[in-house]
Amino acid sequence: MQAEFLKSVKEFLNKNTNPDVLDGFFQELTDSVDEACKQFSKLDLAKSRAAYLKWKVLENLDKYLIDFESAVVRRGGKVIWACDAENAIQEILQIIKKNDFKKIVKSKSSIAEEINLKTSLKSKGIIVGETDFGDYIIDSTKERPFHLVFSSPQKDIPEIAKVLNEKIGSSIDADPENLATDLREEIRESIYQADLVITGANFLIAENGMIGVSENEGNIRLATSICKTHIVLAGIEKIIPTIADIDLFFSLFASFGTGQKLTTYNSLIGPKSRESEDGPAEFIVLLIDNGRSSILNMPEQRQVLSCIKCGACQNVCPVFKISSGHSIRNNYSGPYGSVISPFIENAQDKGDLSYASTICGKCTDVCPVKIDIHNHLLRNRRDLRIEGSTGMGEKLGWYTWKKFVMNRKTMNRSTGVKSFTFKQMFKKNWGENREFPKFSDKSFNQLWREKFGGN
Ligand code: SF4
Repeated sequence: MQAEFLKSVKEFLNKNTNPDVLDGFFQELTDSVDEACKQFSKLDLAKSRAAYLKWKVLENLDKYLIDFESAVVRRGGKVIWACDAENAIQEILQIIKKNDFKKIVKSKSSIAEEINLKTSLKSKGIIVGETDFGDYIIDSTKERPFHLVFSSPQKDIPEIAKVLNEKIGSSIDADPENLATDLREEIRESIYQADLVITGANFLIAENGMIGVSENEGNIRLATSICKTHIVLAGIEKIIPTIADIDLFFSLFASFGTGQKLTTYNSLIGPKSRESEDGPAEFIVLLIDNGRSSILNMPEQRQVLSCIKCGACQNVCPVFKISSGHSIRNNYSGPYGSVISPFIENAQDKGDLSYASTICGKCTDVCPVKIDIHNHLLRNRRDLRIEGSTGMGEKLGWYTWKKFVMNRKTMNRSTGVKSFTFKQMFKKNWGENREFPKFSDKSFNQLWREKFGGN
């Protein structure tokens, strides 16, 4: 897998002819995140509180999930439990067939990518329209999302104009404002005609059976107000205990995800009440497991289920902020993706992704729910070794390295010999653009003798 990962990173870097766009994007985002975080008078306390709430949920998930289901049913909605991706797709297909839905739209949703929603429905002749600007663009270019929150930040305006010119006839010279207006009209028209909307959920509120959704375009709010049926796709870990907790999570998600104090639209959505004219007649939540209970069953790894998918760990990661989600074959990119992929069913990149890290710990520092990400990567590496999944090349490399460093005679050889040997061993993996480390002119033995004497 490592070879494949490196190959796809190279492919992406070769294709991405305008790295300045990405550099500028991440720099601006980091500045905005710093600014937005100033809204917390005690940021560390806010993070600790969020981490504690998520920990409490995970330790009592069985109870909270039942609370959530009961609350949804009490409000007139329905909950369906799906053990894996296939099960989830079958349930969605049944709903579509039963109601003979012809026009379907979906919002940006990482779990929809995880269960391969669009491809699976397309194979049955069912086309689903995108309501998110970024997802609309990458759907048109048949690409994967670059990031958990931003689908295509690597694309500049001329590239987007070209896509929209081909797809909806926008002017090739249109400025960003006009491009956004054209796309908004296109998306809104598809929403007006749709009878089913499929969305994700940022949070599931156990206390009242509502979902919390953060967005900047307002299309989820519009679609869930208009469509007859609303299907919510959510991993079982998305629960938060009460409505009183939502302001903390909405603010953390916005600050760390997009560098805003709050995203433009924050909606609490539930089944339509008797008094309300707006809202879907049918509100169905699909609670999807797909490997999450096995993570819950592992006390050491359980904490990763606290993730609120803000993408902040990718924004600071020296590997993923340039290599992107395009370099892996799973839905979840960035350090979080590397941690979770070995456990998500149907994920194609397994534990080897945990080697795509410098273990610098920046991901852990930034995480708003205090997930110990870089140590989880180390644990995954350890488990790979215990399972015996370490490749022959790596085993041989470490065996040779051990022989080399444990032999005093070898270590006392001249700097030239050591540098030559090191380069021979690592020339392939060290990377073409990095300098090799310089060995000291004197060996440890020589330095010791100079300082303390003896042989
Ligand atoms: S692991 Fe933390 S920083 Fe990374 S996406 Fe999840 S919540 Fe955000």
